[in-house]
Amino acid sequence: MADVVVIGAGISGAAAAYELASDGCETVLLDRYGPAAMASGWTLAGVRQSGRHPAELPLARDAVARWAGLDEALDGVTRYRRRGNLRLARTPAEVATIRALVAEQSAAGLDLAFLADGAAVRAVAPAVAGEALAASFCPTDGHADPHATVGAFVRAAERRGAALRFGERAVAIEVEQGRVVAVRTDAGRIPAGRVVLAAGVFGNELLGPLGLSVPIEVPMVTVLRSAPGEVVLEPVIGVANADCAGRQEVDGRFRVTSGLVAWHGGMTEGTAPRVDPTARSIAETVARFGAVVPAFLEARIEAMWAGLIDLTPDALPVLDAPAGVAGLVVGMGFSGHGFGLGPVTGRILADLAQGRAPALPIEAFRLDRFAGRNAPGVLPTLHG
Ligand SMILES: Cc1cc2nc3c(=O)[nH]c(=O)nc-3n(C[C@H](O)[C@H](O)[C@H](O)COP(=O)(O)OP(=O)(O)OC[C@H]3O[C@@H](n4cnc5c(N)ncnc54)[C@H](O)[C@@H]3O)c2cc1C
Repeated sequence: MADVVVIGAGISGAAAAYELASDGCETVLLDRYGPAAMASGWTLAGVRQSGRHPAELPLARDAVARWAGLDEALDGVTRYRRRGNLRLARTPAEVATIRALVAEQSAAGLDLAFLADGAAVRAVAPAVAGEALAASFCPTDGHADPHATVGAFVRAAERRGAALRFGERAVAIEVEQGRVVAVRTDAGRIPAGRVVLAAGVFGNELLGPLGLSVPIEVPMVTVLRSAPGEVVLEPVIGVANADCAGRQEVDGRFRVTSGLVAWHGGMTEGTAPRVDPTARSIAETVARFGAVVPAFLEARIEAMWAGLIDLTPDALPVLDAPAGVAGLVVGMGFSGHGFGLGPVTGRILADLAQGRAPALPIEAFRLDRFAGRNAPGVLPTLHG
């Protein structure tokens, strides 16, 4: 009998398992594939506060504080770098958008500068081309290595006593008299009074039989990754309309993403799932990011894939212990920006699983805010 079964070893579930095990809970971390097999491996892995919805900003700021001490806390390697985030304006209309963003977020207390012309942008990032008319710059944003980070959470959770069950799929959350009693898997049954569901785009498969669902659409994002090379770009680069983004990893590999494109519905399942990008999206991504960072056009592309996004109607996640199923905690619907939040998401899910009120405000992330809605209403800021 476990105290808590965490379903999903992406960053949300791995961080929750780490926090739960650290709190002394008998924890099982379950994944149908393995750590970072889906969004948490497909991601650009930007760690940003800038451009966040006001409801998410306190969480993002808390997360950034946690990221700074994460290698030490986990006794692991995340390759977290705090090198800033530039959000570029490429048209006069985008300049107005960026100016308004800086005004709003500065008023909320974020250290966010408005870089008023291309010269100011290139003073921060010389690799950015003349396309950039202006930008916002948040020096305390950054990026990390997603596989290394999730692996570090998993190993730290295991050292604190969590049991790891990878290659095992949860097929049902068993509920009796309104209480979670077990998780049924394709390999057996794990009795437990509490479940943290952090299964990303697959979460609704397990919520549906309980009469619950998080309304999500599932678009995809194309990702291109180059061979290692000289580091010419320190900050994460995004653009005001979020139609591309990119950064360089610590060894100089470019990791570049498209905006949201329609998912063709295909997925190849092996030891990890794979979604292939379309030629059109690859071409658009190369052209768009290459226009803002020309050095990318000379890079050798080593890998490409597409990542799926769990996009909710308001592009905010669900972090909740829904009424009606005692012992169930849901963390999903991160809408393309849940990586940076990972360390604080884990803390919040662990608190909810233990019946404690999280230290940060999570009212905006209740599941019942969607009662009667099921279509996305806003676009997420896919931007590192
Ligand atoms: C291309 C791309 C770029 C992104 N860029 C950024 C960015 O720059 N910054 C940022 O903050 N966020 C970004 N995001 C979003 C971020 O990566 C995700 O929000 C975050 O990784 C979600 O983590 P998760 O743990 O909630 O879900 P996931 O990582 O998807 O993990 C869910 C896990 O659940 C497992 N699972 C599912 N069903 C079952 C089951 N039945 N039984 C057992 N296991 C199951 C899966 O195998 C998977 O490992 C991006 C996403 C993509 C795709």
